[in-house]
Amino acid sequence: PESPAADSRQRPSLQPADLVWRDGVPESRQFGDVYFCRDNGLEESRYVFIDRNQLPERFAGLAPGASFVVAECGFGTGLNFLATWQAWRRHAPADSGCLHYVTIEKHPLTVADLTRALALWPELAGFSAELLAQYPPLVEGVHRLVFDSGRVRLTVFFGDAQDGWEQLEFTADAWYLDGFAPARNPELWRANVITAVRQHSKAGTTVATFTSVGEVRRALAGVGFTMSKVPGYGRKRDMLTGILGGNASELDGEAKESTEYPRRRQPPRSVAIIGSGIAGCTLARNLAERGVAVHLIDETTAPGSAASGNLQGALYVKLGVQFNYQTRLALAALLFSQRYYSNNAADHWHPCGLLQLAGDEREQQRQAKFIAGNRYPDAVLQPVDSDRATELCGVDVPRGGLWFPDSGWLEPGQSCRALARHRNIQGHFGHRVTRLTPCNGRWHIAIAGKNDLVTDHIVICAGHQSPGLIPVAGGFRFRTIRGQVSLLEAARLKAPKAVICGNRYLNPVRDGICLTGATFDLHSDDAAVTEASHQENISELEGMLPGIWQGEAPAPEDMRGRVGFRCTTHDYQPAAGPLCGPDGHELEGISLFTGLGSKGLSYAPLLAEYLADRLTGQPLALPKDIAARLNPDRCRVPAHPVSTATA
Ligand code: SAM
Repeated sequence: PESPAADSRQRPSLQPADLVWRDGVPESRQFGDVYFCRDNGLEESRYVFIDRNQLPERFAGLAPGASFVVAECGFGTGLNFLATWQAWRRHAPADSGCLHYVTIEKHPLTVADLTRALALWPELAGFSAELLAQYPPLVEGVHRLVFDSGRVRLTVFFGDAQDGWEQLEFTADAWYLDGFAPARNPELWRANVITAVRQHSKAGTTVATFTSVGEVRRALAGVGFTMSKVPGYGRKRDMLTGILGGNASELDGEAKESTEYPRRRQPPRSVAIIGSGIAGCTLARNLAERGVAVHLIDETTAPGSAASGNLQGALYVKLGVQFNYQTRLALAALLFSQRYYSNNAADHWHPCGLLQLAGDEREQQRQAKFIAGNRYPDAVLQPVDSDRATELCGVDVPRGGLWFPDSGWLEPGQSCRALARHRNIQGHFGHRVTRLTPCNGRWHIAIAGKNDLVTDHIVICAGHQSPGLIPVAGGFRFRTIRGQVSLLEAARLKAPKAVICGNRYLNPVRDGICLTGATFDLHSDDAAVTEASHQENISELEGMLPGIWQGEAPAPEDMRGRVGFRCTTHDYQPAAGPLCGPDGHELEGISLFTGLGSKGLSYAPLLAEYLADRLTGQPLALPKDIAARLNPDRCRVPAHPVSTATA
């Protein structure tokens, strides 16, 4: 079930930490306790959590490619995270995998408070600046932050610990139990949380906590941790450390039952990605940075040449009136993609702001309901009236709408090409894949005019051409939507300084051109640019922004444009995950990543991150309930169509 909230109109915002500062040290008014000890929080963090979990030695001893997962209750000021990141830089071998830090926080600090708290540690200034630059807006749910080109990943769940530990999929190597003192913050030390700690652990997982309270020690011992009391930091006499089991045979029955993630599967050494649009390119880059050898295959001659090949594309999602699964995924995808393009495609990303126009009566009413029923931080979106919209966009906007200050537009084709350039990515362009065949636990990929490729895993990212490649009997409920964009000469219109989205989008000028589009044709497979589609784009744009032209509207017969085919699913939600056979069982070594519709630029980065997590056995970037809804198996044509005839 969706997690309950006291007042649903407050969602997805959260109650931030309510701080008082005494002697420069932050204290929580909600819990009446300090975030770290007054003497030296950084030294305490190293002593209690990093050293008592033996992280310097364990980091140093990691095998090539091996990763490490630290989990924490709760995130607070991020001090423990930053100190751990610093220890990772110091001790982990250069050829190790990734430090993954998983944490939860019910009352996150505001950016202003976080900035002030982290200023206490000049030694960590470089790390703090990176955290602050990526710190998410205070909205509930899972946020994934990527640092050091993927060498360090932070998964932070904003919400209650119990929901977080239920929704996140990972297995920790070490735990930091860092709630406020048990007497002041009892719910973070309750049996359900301790059970969750156990469920996200395996034999050899260690735990450390500043407290030495007997109840905590007994609870951890009760779920299988061998506990010790050791001297505490500074004035604290004792603290607790523990290790799960000693070996598997010491674990109790329930513990032996594997809830462990990933489930004893070797990460693939090589992955073939078929299709080099934004989905294929973000996934290829992501896997390549994790050390996987990637083959990127496309029948076109360069990455981003088909549907993702437009000169401009808006980073845009439609958030629903209901804060349901779709909305949660759209929101997470939007926030992740904004960070992603800033970090990975800065040369081709233009965060100029985006207006979602209340283009007609219906959309105006929908937006009014949306605003009344939800609360979003200003950093995500703000309702604006027509005057403010006009000011923000620099052109006359006849109605108000929703303003997304951190969104904007991308050069998708250029971004695809830049993402695909990596030493671990081998491109195979101008070649058509004809057949995929499983063979001895691997896959043979037949490519026209080339020798077969053999890889451990295949991901089909071929947009509307994906169905033809899926080696599973029975059809999939995908639909192809033709989209034609029109190139407008900037001199012919009043060009906006922000993206404006309604029935069409209109982008700011680039090289003397503003792009508008796209049509939404479910019934045409015409790959040629048509005047009729240009006319449609012009009319829609005039409807949205009357008075946009400088003089006459451009004539369709003089216009240039481009046609692409988007792939969408029967429920308009993406498909990202393993393929299943006709019996519903997961096929080994083959996944699908498509169905992004016209929102590919927004969805691809987060879904690529999620798929790469799955393939490499890392903690997942999406909560379980959302991940389940992406399962491609739901798109299969039902074997026995429901009959309307009576027996
Ligand atoms: N590790 C943090 C640091 O490095 O700054 C300090 C953590 S502070 C002692 C405890 C944190 O747990 C607070 O930020 C608090 O808001 C959070 N917390 C308390 N109860 C929680 C709950 N039920 N679910 C999630 N977080 C909770």
